[in-house]
Amino acid sequence: MEPKKLLEVRDLRVTFRTYAGRVQAVRGVSWYLGERETIAIVGESGCGKTVSIQTVAGLNSSKTTDIQGQVLFDGQDLVQLPMKEIRKLQGEKMSMIFQDPFTFLNPTMTVGKQIMESYREHRKASRKEAEARTIEILKLISLPDPEKNMRRYPHQLSGGMRQRVMVAMALICDPQILFADEPTTALDVTIQAQIVDLMKELKTKIDTSIVLITHDMGVVANMAQRIYVMYAGQIVEEGDSRDIFYSPKHPYTKALLESVPQVDSDAGTPLASIPGTPPDLIAPPQGCAFAERCPYAMEICRRAQPALTEFGGEHAAACWLHHEEFAKRRGGAPL
Ligand code: SF4
Repeated sequence: MEPKKLLEVRDLRVTFRTYAGRVQAVRGVSWYLGERETIAIVGESGCGKTVSIQTVAGLNSSKTTDIQGQVLFDGQDLVQLPMKEIRKLQGEKMSMIFQDPFTFLNPTMTVGKQIMESYREHRKASRKEAEARTIEILKLISLPDPEKNMRRYPHQLSGGMRQRVMVAMALICDPQILFADEPTTALDVTIQAQIVDLMKELKTKIDTSIVLITHDMGVVANMAQRIYVMYAGQIVEEGDSRDIFYSPKHPYTKALLESVPQVDSDAGTPLASIPGTPPDLIAPPQGCAFAERCPYAMEICRRAQPALTEFGGEHAAACWLHHEEFAKRRGGAPL
């Protein structure tokens, strides 16, 4: 059953005006986040996933950015909301964990002070109240010795502890939505696993819904109920985790899955990679954006954009191979 929608993005388009031209970073993306749900938006670097999330969270408001579409939350369209109102939502109702804690955290302030800042501002809390809440949240995220560590500076903590501090900062005001932008990318493999476990554990303790952005299908498999696969600023496949992992329909999704290291593969087996590079989004291709890298590309793929084909439930993919006529030619044979 479809969960109750907490946040809904409809036909979002984000274009940056640059000296080189208009970069169409997000090209008509629609998705939703249900209550108490974790969804993932996956794709390679530059596919538009971070831009779309930053736009939804109100972090892309520069005068050189054009934003179209709707972002519906709490009965309002965030695209139309004045920045003053967006600021009230940030930290309080929606917050973000960024990729790299070392560059995000202020090196001249103790981590406790940094965590408390947003709580004091949004909740108008006294220093004592904010301190008590900080210790509570640091315990929740299992930071050892919270009373002592909150008085330390970022450089005095390990990479894993710094990322826990980022999680604490994002959760301090008990937000309804948490955006996690590649939360494990800057960490080594062991710490990555610890942060994924922490986020899974937090889901059982708090009511927050999570939007996870990552290029790492391994992280997604562990956390997300539904997945949106993005390529060149568009969603090319969507479905629940089982659909995407066990029955992927789009050649790009398949290629992403094939590039995940397998524990049972023979030593020395080279890791699969996707040949070529994503297209230039100043002049996106007229047809399917994946055509230049796709082993199944046909003539029509370069000429026209494929529409989404639905496969039941919420599973859908935008690929000409599933268009009625071409599917008939394949005689239902798997790709
Ligand atoms: Fe490949 Fe064509 Fe499908 Fe695009 S539409 S993914 S080029 S088969």
